[in-house]
Amino acid sequence: MSIQSAVLGFPRIGAKREVKKATEAYWAGKIQAAELQKVAKEQRLARWQTLKDQGVDVIPSGDFTLYDHVLDFNATFNIIPSRFAQANLSDLDRYFAMGRGHQKDGVDLEAQEMQKWFDSNYHYIKSEVSSKTEFKLNNLKPVDEFNEAKEAGITTRPVLVGPITALLLGKAGRDEGAGAASFEPLSLLDKLVPVYGELLKKLEEAGATEVQIDEPSLVMDSTADLGAKYQSTFEAFAKAAPGLKITLATYFGRLDKNVEFVAKLPVAALHIDLDRASEQLDQVIAAVKPTSLKLSLGLVSGRNIWKNDFEASLATAKKAVDALGADRVVVATSSSLLHTPVTLANESRLKPEQKDWFSFATEKAAEVATLAKALSGADVQAALDANKQSIKARRDFEKNSDAAVRERLAAVTPEQYNRKSPFPERLAAQSKVYKLPQFPTTTIGSFPQTKEIRLARSKHTKGELSTEEYEKFLENEIKHAVDFQEAIDIDVLVHGEPERNDMSQYFGEQLTGFVFTENAWVQSYGSRYVRPPIVVSDVSRPHPMTVRWSSYAQSLTKRPMKGMLTGPVTILNWSFPRADVSKEVQCKQLALALRDEVIDLANAGIFAIQVDEPAIREGLPLRQVDWDGYLTWAVDSFKLATAGVEDKTSVHSHFCYSDFSLIFEHIKRLDCDVISVEQSKAGGRDLVAFHEKGYENEIGPGLYDIHSPRVPSVEEMKGRLDAYLKALPAQKHIWVNPDCGLKTRAWPETEQSLKNMVEVAKLARAER
Ligand code: GLN
Ligand code: ZN
Repeated sequence: MSIQSAVLGFPRIGAKREVKKATEAYWAGKIQAAELQKVAKEQRLARWQTLKDQGVDVIPSGDFTLYDHVLDFNATFNIIPSRFAQANLSDLDRYFAMGRGHQKDGVDLEAQEMQKWFDSNYHYIKSEVSSKTEFKLNNLKPVDEFNEAKEAGITTRPVLVGPITALLLGKAGRDEGAGAASFEPLSLLDKLVPVYGELLKKLEEAGATEVQIDEPSLVMDSTADLGAKYQSTFEAFAKAAPGLKITLATYFGRLDKNVEFVAKLPVAALHIDLDRASEQLDQVIAAVKPTSLKLSLGLVSGRNIWKNDFEASLATAKKAVDALGADRVVVATSSSLLHTPVTLANESRLKPEQKDWFSFATEKAAEVATLAKALSGADVQAALDANKQSIKARRDFEKNSDAAVRERLAAVTPEQYNRKSPFPERLAAQSKVYKLPQFPTTTIGSFPQTKEIRLARSKHTKGELSTEEYEKFLENEIKHAVDFQEAIDIDVLVHGEPERNDMSQYFGEQLTGFVFTENAWVQSYGSRYVRPPIVVSDVSRPHPMTVRWSSYAQSLTKRPMKGMLTGPVTILNWSFPRADVSKEVQCKQLALALRDEVIDLANAGIFAIQVDEPAIREGLPLRQVDWDGYLTWAVDSFKLATAGVEDKTSVHSHFCYSDFSLIFEHIKRLDCDVISVEQSKAGGRDLVAFHEKGYENEIGPGLYDIHSPRVPSVEEMKGRLDAYLKALPAQKHIWVNPDCGLKTRAWPETEQSLKNMVEVAKLARAER
């Protein structure tokens, strides 16, 4: 009996970033839509061929996207808010407008809200539904791509976002009007299911025999009571397309009790994530055993880049085979591989012995295939032996990690976690250093990472620009940013972060314990990709990392300069962590390294130090019972990093994409002097918690969205600030700042937006 191998999804960027480049060229008006579609098609074909070449049996289709797979879902099912539907745009431009906003030729559309995809660093576009939403098949992208693969001789398994997950992740759109607050997106399920069924039928008619329906929400508490809805939904699907075998895919966590109803659903197979939640195997096997369900074992990590340990995976798989029989087992990636880079083949600078520790998407596909072959009794001994050697080499390397770092961590005292005095005393000490006005203005740190900056960096990397020339260039950039901020009258300045390729990578590169890749790009949102560092051993800071730039910036101005660091939780979350040491230990090692940097910045005369933790919320475990454990070490790590300074130093932090109400006590425990939070899209939603819980420290709720080039007017932002003030009636210290850093923006819109923003602060001061 041969056991099948399956891949749940693959990166979209292309091995040489073809898709990203073509998309951005299209946006810039440099190529036409037809050219973009041609590149997209080539890349889809390349992906399928790659998976086939690696020996994968079940190859996905429809998971490719030009922006985001949830946005694709919205476009296919006509979940298009009226402001986009009415705009005079082509389908493609409408699609992009929904994702990234549109401000051209008199059309001015704000992008839809983005949110992080479960606990990953990938952002999806939130579906905006309302009672006016009319589901219909607006396009047949899933069918078209299935056909495209079929024409190329490859039979694929189409991948669809599940209807319940899609609605649970959606929100009541503006079209709902006054009733939006109480509108439940899931109330539309009965209207969506028949249209979804039509799509399944069309896939069946096109010759698909299988489909993968992703319902990752099943690993969340929010689905505990939805058994009946899942049952009726999948019954309807079975009726609509009886010839289609459905694999219900769950990932990123454990099903827990949900497995009881999931095992009874009329689907052909259930996929579970055994990378993130290996502990669920016994429970799931017990639940599916009496049924005829196949079990798809997510053994090869879709979220990390370590080579799979074949011995361990085969042992796990054998357990399932023994319990269910070989004909009921599939081996698969734990989730889509979209969270991993395309291939190790493009890495020439990693040392061979290090390269041997990793597997990227293409290599992971081969791993899945090898595991399936091994289980099917094929002779793959050479591959198994080679794998065993790699795993052993990695373990041996581990043993020689840095003892001094471990000892320092073990010796940390409770006092090191807390500032010397409580907030009111610190505030008094800080106002002696600088007297800031009401509604002080600031930005979140980065200024536009222009083409010139990226070019200079790449020339420096290639050795075409000397370090001296490069640093001179960066100083000029910093000077430009400082002059600009002074000119428009910003109160607390930043240096603009031109030296940073990425807020996590930049630090990783200067710390010991990390390795870097040249081409390991991972999608963050749309055409934005990051290259996460990889933590390979104990972490320490051999030298100061940012002091030089902050000091230089401070030397140019009498206004206070804000130092800028990425927090330990965020660095870790946006890196590929070690799989052999707990995240808590890795995070606290990072915290100690940052603590030294924070103290050095303060000693260099930097008044305010912002330690960004945008990822604290995204790292939150998917099930609430696991929250406290995580938040305890996450918040402790932040405190360990920041609490080493005197009262007169102002510690700032920044958060994006966060709904704070549920974790409020932990946010409070961070004890930041100032926190800035992304808020403009959420319309002040999170501020309620700050008010209700009596938060006293300073807050900067973001006044405008930075993900789109659109320039917000003074009135628009003033309206927002007024709404924030209403939500925070008792708050004495409100800062005026954008939602997030400006690195993805260009200068013209940045200048205009910030000028308007400063104007808003001045209006507010005049009114107080
Ligand atoms: N300081 C960072 C910046 O301005 C913060 C970015 C973030 O929160 N994602 O780019
Ligand atoms: Zn941010």
